Amino acid sequence: MKAHDGLYIGGAWRPAAGRDEIEVVNPADEQVIGRVPAGDAMDVDTAVRAARAALATWAATPPAERAARLGALRDVLAARKDEIAGTVTAELGSPLPFSQAVHASVPIAVAGSYAELAAAHSFEEKVGNSTVLHEPVGVVGGITPWNYPLHQIVAKVAPALAAGCTVVLKPAEDTPLTAQLFAEAVHEAGVPAGVFNLVTGLGPVAGQALAEHPDVDLVSFTGSTAVGRRIGAAAGAAVKKVALELGGKSANVILPSADLARAVNVGVANVMSNSGQTCSAWTRMLVHRDRYDEAVELAAAAAAKYGDRIGPVVNARQQARVLGYIEKGVAEGARLVAGGPEAPREQGYFVSPTVLADVTPEMTVAQEEIFGPVLSVLRYEDEEDALRIANGTVYGLAGAVWAGEESEAVAFARRMDTGQVDINGGRFNPLAPFGGYKQSGVGRELGSHGLAEYLQTKSLQF
Ligand code: NAP
Ligand code: MG
Repeated sequence: MKAHDGLYIGGAWRPAAGRDEIEVVNPADEQVIGRVPAGDAMDVDTAVRAARAALATWAATPPAERAARLGALRDVLAARKDEIAGTVTAELGSPLPFSQAVHASVPIAVAGSYAELAAAHSFEEKVGNSTVLHEPVGVVGGITPWNYPLHQIVAKVAPALAAGCTVVLKPAEDTPLTAQLFAEAVHEAGVPAGVFNLVTGLGPVAGQALAEHPDVDLVSFTGSTAVGRRIGAAAGAAVKKVALELGGKSANVILPSADLARAVNVGVANVMSNSGQTCSAWTRMLVHRDRYDEAVELAAAAAAKYGDRIGPVVNARQQARVLGYIEKGVAEGARLVAGGPEAPREQGYFVSPTVLADVTPEMTVAQEEIFGPVLSVLRYEDEEDALRIANGTVYGLAGAVWAGEESEAVAFARRMDTGQVDINGGRFNPLAPFGGYKQSGVGRELGSHGLAEYLQTKSLQF
């Protein structure tokens, strides 16, 4: 798609206040593929005013009509699926089949799910002598990252619109073209002017102005824990609602009774997909000591098979960061069994699919989010030890458990401090609540739980 040289505010593309631009780079070949405006605090203010002006009418629009707009949005996204996939591949670098199967397809499903939820949700309930109204929270400031650029936008905007909120979105600087395409789709779907507004720009400028804007009622952020903590602090000081979807360091727990080859192969695929840039990736594989050597061999072979089939990471800074983590892992005593800290290609921000063995729970690579194609394999002595290791980070976003019997895996999953657990390779469910325990975040996205984040209750007593 061709980049817009404006911001989408109040239903039209309009010039930014300043002249600053963001260069969009294809991480696979380092070529500049477009330029978008870097909006500033003035642009954010204009967009927030537009969202505020549109709020009362959109909030009072019957849910069935809001659902119809979301259904139309779903249809536009579906019709433009190939363009979405191509755009994500161009600015994020993920291989085209993955962009089609995941980056373009999941948002279509999520938009569709909110068309249905908006139509089905009862925005009024009776509790004894009260009627409880479910009202929109108001103007939402959405701040999204680049790793699933369209999914993370839709996971905020679709439920917000379903609830009757209006939105100002500040997408990641690395993936603004996908965000512009989304704004086009919103426009094509007939969503009224001002209900959705897009300000491309830099985090510390446009992002911070949005997070701190006094007329934003709810800030919904997905990204790093460092930025999330600041946004949470600002929201706390202003006594406004905040949703934080932060990092993870999820455990893939392979119990002794599991089908080892399947658990390892699916586990490696989970970490390598999207070049390891998935907040819920199972980046720590936990294996019983009796099966440890076999698991490491399987994991190394599976990673080597990926070879150059994985895409680059998003930018040079992330590449340097990920390679630095691999070096640090080796320096702290991990054993490299696949990949390594050298960039595998001259051009593009590639990292080899990497497996570190003999990783112990206190090592940096077992504690910090790497956000690249790097798997750490840890050894446990018994089930209690596995549980201690699985729960032994500040994070709690996701995880997996594998066992011969589902019930055995479920019993273990109940004791994990984490927001979602896949049992014996269970599939992603776009209706299930997604969000973290501990420092992985505050709040839930997707499905009816995601809708509830954008509603507040008013109780009328009779
Ligand atoms: P990030 O800085 O937290 O980016 C997330 C979003 O927040 C982007 O839109 C970013 O804008 C914006 N932002 C940055 N600073 C801000 C501020 N002071 N106020 C308001 N908004 C701000 O994450 P990143 O730098 O792209 O990635 C760094 C690390 O974060 C990764 O290595 C990974 O560990 C983690 N991460 C996690 C997720 C996740 O899904 N949980 C996603 C992405 C990254 P800019 O794009 O301009 O920076
Ligand atoms: Mg950043």
